Amino acid sequence: MPYRIKALVTGGAGFLGSHLCERLLAGGRNVLCVDNFFTGSKENVLHLLEDPHFEVMRHDITFPLYVEVDEIYNLACPASPIHYQFDPVQTTKTAVHGAINMLGLAKRTQAKILQASTSEIYGDPEVHPQPENYRGNVNPIGPRGCYDEGKRCAETLFFDYWRQYGLKIRVARIFNTYGPRMHPNDGRVVSNFIVQALRGDPITLYGDASQTRSFCYVDDLIEGFIRFMEADNEMTGPMNLGNPDEFTIRELAEKIIAITGSASNLVEKPLPEDDPTQRCPDITLAKAKLGWQPTVPLEQGLEKTIAYFREILAAG
Ligand code: NAD
Ligand code: UDP
Repeated sequence: MPYRIKALVTGGAGFLGSHLCERLLAGGRNVLCVDNFFTGSKENVLHLLEDPHFEVMRHDITFPLYVEVDEIYNLACPASPIHYQFDPVQTTKTAVHGAINMLGLAKRTQAKILQASTSEIYGDPEVHPQPENYRGNVNPIGPRGCYDEGKRCAETLFFDYWRQYGLKIRVARIFNTYGPRMHPNDGRVVSNFIVQALRGDPITLYGDASQTRSFCYVDDLIEGFIRFMEADNEMTGPMNLGNPDEFTIRELAEKIIAITGSASNLVEKPLPEDDPTQRCPDITLAKAKLGWQPTVPLEQGLEKTIAYFREILAAG
């Protein structure tokens, strides 16, 4: 029997993690999903449990983990502002202690390791769009600091393990990604607006909604992860992965109202502290080195995501 590569996905029961587990299984891997179920859920991976090549382990990555694997995708970390600000100390521990534990595991097993970093490491950017060599504008003591600085420190650790121990690292800087299995209450803008539109509730625009984001459909992002992991080991990153089509938050709300046919009205709420005013990835590097770029336009991705939320809201 041919050898099946053993992949560990931390945060595997979350939104991105569950799609990644699915894709790795389809690609012939053995997959170990590790999650503490803080924001992820068993429902997200229920359909994979029948697969003999899939395994789930409840574990918090702030504690050491001893398993034998060939590849590690380190996704464990709450990602939405509401969730990462709920217990900010635990967020920093997950980002930093979690990275140390997973890097230690990679060092012992000689596994390749990919870090799910974030566009948040650019903070409220003064350079637009953001290339990888931009060093960012982060408030270390604000409410987003636990996540932004935690993820920045994790990047430092990845590059130090690479320099010091020659680890095979990949650092992906993910920009806003959306799709089925986003948590309906996680407060992120796409899920919030869709749920509000489907329920006929007011759509909550924070500030004047002129701030911008660039939204990547989940399947495109997962394709980027796979290509990055399979690239040469010199390809450490950091590498931006995201969709460079940029929209204001008001434009996003209008699109969701149009697609759902909702009668919801728009209401303005206060802008959260340190909310970045603009965000858009420069993906020149990913295009050149991975031959990767997103293929799913926003309307098409929103339609699939809306169909998912219709189903789960109907199921109660
Ligand atoms: P998510 O909240 O759905 O998934 C995170 C998963 O990690 C959850 O299943 C959660 O239970 C698990 N987790 C949290 N702390 C843990 C711990 N200490 N030990 C074990 N498991 C733990 O979020 P997501 O959108 O799927 O994000 C996945 C990763 O991608 C995160 O690291 C996030 O920072 C990064 N990211 C996501 C986006 C995005 O737009 N979705 C953008 C940038 C970066
Ligand atoms: N936002 C909004 N209404 C909501 C949720 C979010 O206007 O109900 C805005 C938020 O202020 C931010 C953008 O949408 O400017 C994206 O927010 P999200 O939490 O999805 O991700 P971020 O990119 O800020 O981490």
